[in-house]
Amino acid sequence: MADFTDLGIASLRDGFRAGDFSARETTDAYVSAVAEAKALNAFIIETPEHAIAAADAADAARASGDLRPLSGVPLGIKDLFCTAGHQTTAASHMLEGFTPQYESTVTAKLFDAGAGMLGKLNLDQFAMGSSNETSAYGNVVSPWRRGDGRGGADNAPLTPGGSSGGSSAAIAARIVPAATGTDTSGSIRQPAAFTGISGIKPTYGRCSRFGIVAFASSLDQAGAMARDVKDCAILLEAMGGFDPKDATSLDLPVPRWEANLSGDLRGKRIGIPREYRVDGMPAEIEALWQQGIDWAQDAGAEIVEVSLPHTRYALPTYYIVAPAEASSNLARYDGVRYGLRELPDGASLAEMYAATRAAGFGDEVKRRILIGTYVLSAGFYDAYYTKAQKVRALIARDFEQAFGQADLLLTPTAPSAAFALGEKSNDPLAMYLNDVFTVPSSLAGLPAMSVPGGLDAAGLPLGLQIIGRPLDEQGVLNAGLAIEERAGFTARADKWW
Ligand code: GLN
Repeated sequence: MADFTDLGIASLRDGFRAGDFSARETTDAYVSAVAEAKALNAFIIETPEHAIAAADAADAARASGDLRPLSGVPLGIKDLFCTAGHQTTAASHMLEGFTPQYESTVTAKLFDAGAGMLGKLNLDQFAMGSSNETSAYGNVVSPWRRGDGRGGADNAPLTPGGSSGGSSAAIAARIVPAATGTDTSGSIRQPAAFTGISGIKPTYGRCSRFGIVAFASSLDQAGAMARDVKDCAILLEAMGGFDPKDATSLDLPVPRWEANLSGDLRGKRIGIPREYRVDGMPAEIEALWQQGIDWAQDAGAEIVEVSLPHTRYALPTYYIVAPAEASSNLARYDGVRYGLRELPDGASLAEMYAATRAAGFGDEVKRRILIGTYVLSAGFYDAYYTKAQKVRALIARDFEQAFGQADLLLTPTAPSAAFALGEKSNDPLAMYLNDVFTVPSSLAGLPAMSVPGGLDAAGLPLGLQIIGRPLDEQGVLNAGLAIEERAGFTARADKWW
């Protein structure tokens, strides 16, 4: 038997069911892999006891014929999901030591489905960032290194992307078979692209937000990150579904995405948005995009050019809407009810609030709160927040119109391969620009996924993004599979950790 950590969700599940191995054996292999990979800093806490208890329960269930969809599958959980009895930090000092009394709906569903938890994965603080460098627990290091022999400073450690960078790094390093992520404007797709894995953000409302630490509530959505498209389908099926505890959750049954997977795109029209050909896009990304178009055609799709005229307003709109919602959501961290409390001697209540928030939040979080309170302030609300909401509606309308001509859209996931740690951390605007291709679909609440397409000249993964109509995760996954089948992406990071 090859190393058990070579097995993803479907292989773990199916081999376990067939009696090829016990859940305990495979879970032990993953627990050891996690313990040996500290250099990646992918986990904030490890929870081997949770994974092992689930594995033992799966082995007992198999003996008694009571198998569940994810029996025998251990997972990594982004540390933005509340996990009962296990510290949940959102990678912020503000929540250090916070142990929720309750389980997020998504993790509750996963654990009910038989999955175990290997640990809580690192992320950008409160999911604000594109590189994992805003974590209060230190940045995650990508398992990938530039392999072009340039050496020296060019071989600097790379970001695994963000905010779900612990998830992407852990999957790419094969220390977890798959993981949860959340995506507010790209935090599943961009890290997936940077690390050569697959990740899907479903339609807004498919997964319950209950128990996920809130960032921007009208945008936040949980999703699946895994080694391939099929594993994403399996994981998302277990995560999704109506939840009366989230008023924005969709009261619809979860489709059988795995059973209906097909890479046959005959009869599908794939739209190529003209406005995504941005200035300064590296030639390698252009070439990858063309390659993706050729693959889609080969799978039987018809290619059409579409226009999304308000694309260039998406980033500025996002950086008004998201901070506005964040400033309101993060008002709850007042040092009173849970998490950090800084109470200088003789401090008044207001001084306690200020001291707590000054000590608990990182710089990027403070920047968002400042922007958010500014755009919501009485004098500027109409000029910024109301205007941004109007533009958001126009961006959503662009997609509606494009979906009159096309069933799915195909674009690059990010404008570059992974950058070096530190390369953009002093330039917030350069960092924000990294989301240029993922933000618009988030503003419109659409399902979207990234799949690996190939490597750049330095040997780093590049991703292709597929965007679908509302509720068409099946179409997105199928197009992802068609690309996956043709890209034959088997590259892996060399183990150095
Ligand atoms: N880069 C985006 C931001 O910093 C990512 C947010 C996300 O999707 N969670 O806001």
